[in-house]
Amino acid sequence: MSEDLVVQRREGLYCPPGDFYIDPWRPVDRAVITHAHGDHSRRGNAHYLAAAAAEGVLRTRLGEVDLQTLPYGETIDHLGVRLSFHPAGHVLGSAQVRLEHAGRVWVASGDYYVAGGVSDAREDNQTCAPFEPVRCHCFITESTFGLPIYRWRPQAELFAEIDDWWRANAEAGRASLLMGYVFGKAQRILKGVDCSIGPIVVHGAVEPLNRAYRAAGVDLPETPIATEIQDKSLFRRALIVAPPSAQGSTWTRRFGDYSDAFASGWMQLRGARRRRSIDRGFVLSDHADWPGLQRAIVATGAERVIVTHGYEAVMVRWLTDQGLEASAFATEYGQDDDELPPAIGAEVAAAERAAEHVAATLSDEDAAAIVVAPDDDAPADDTGGA
Ligand SMILES: [Zn+2]
Ligand SMILES: [Zn+2]
Repeated sequence: MSEDLVVQRREGLYCPPGDFYIDPWRPVDRAVITHAHGDHSRRGNAHYLAAAAAEGVLRTRLGEVDLQTLPYGETIDHLGVRLSFHPAGHVLGSAQVRLEHAGRVWVASGDYYVAGGVSDAREDNQTCAPFEPVRCHCFITESTFGLPIYRWRPQAELFAEIDDWWRANAEAGRASLLMGYVFGKAQRILKGVDCSIGPIVVHGAVEPLNRAYRAAGVDLPETPIATEIQDKSLFRRALIVAPPSAQGSTWTRRFGDYSDAFASGWMQLRGARRRRSIDRGFVLSDHADWPGLQRAIVATGAERVIVTHGYEAVMVRWLTDQGLEASAFATEYGQDDDELPPAIGAEVAAAERAAEHVAATLSDEDAAAIVVAPDDDAPADDTGGA
């Protein structure tokens, strides 16, 4: 235990030889930050260290903090611990933290995005540097979608599905309100859709992040803010990108007739799709799917894996079956990362519990066989009861 490069403490994940924390959930002196999502980069730490690519989004979210940055792949030494950041593919600036001390190498992944069982550049996150596997003895992995039912479709298919929904609405003179997390998800939507269909406008909470992405060199379409649009007839052909909290709010009244949709990995859950309160659900996640998690873990060559946030028991069982030493850390991550609209939170939670139960009792193959078919994404009104 004393040789471990990362241990659990009440403040967060702690590196004993380096005397710093990784993504602490309580204020500490030295915080190494994997990415700028709120549950991983909290306020109140004295010193922050993050990947250079994260600087803009971190400052957008945290304001003026004592922040030191390090480009991907460069190393610094701190109390004999060599530290470097490596792309995680999750959001702009997201990083895995590589630690090397006394001949041992540990990597803490933070959140990461790897889709599918084989590497394919078309399936990378197109809004940030793609995930890079880093060899290590011990890999600390996330497991947000660590169940066999989570398998992302090719991105081209998914965005064609979103475009079709938007185009049909525009032809009917109806606004298209697409909700997703404002940091990461919103920018992937903006980058992935066909801008020739109509104007794109955003909720005021989305635009500061868009600016940080553009400043970092990510090519996003122009996105005026909805409240600043004078000519309301423009909304009838528009795609409106907004946070999940916009669902059913008074802010949506300005759009007149609209169709609403939600983009999240949780939309893979059959039960979550049988909601009546939102017209469409698109399966778009910034986290690795089940084959992606397996591929990423195997690529590290780690003999020991520690699982954080999400389905720890299922993932630990799979790792143990692979002959790896596996355990879990209890963390306080995941609260506000893949946020749900208020109206479907309970439905998603119930579907998730059912899916976890299935994963715990079925083989990997049997669980894969019950993945929702792509054509199952009919409008909610067609899908019947609960
Ligand atoms: Zn995250
Ligand atoms: Zn997370």
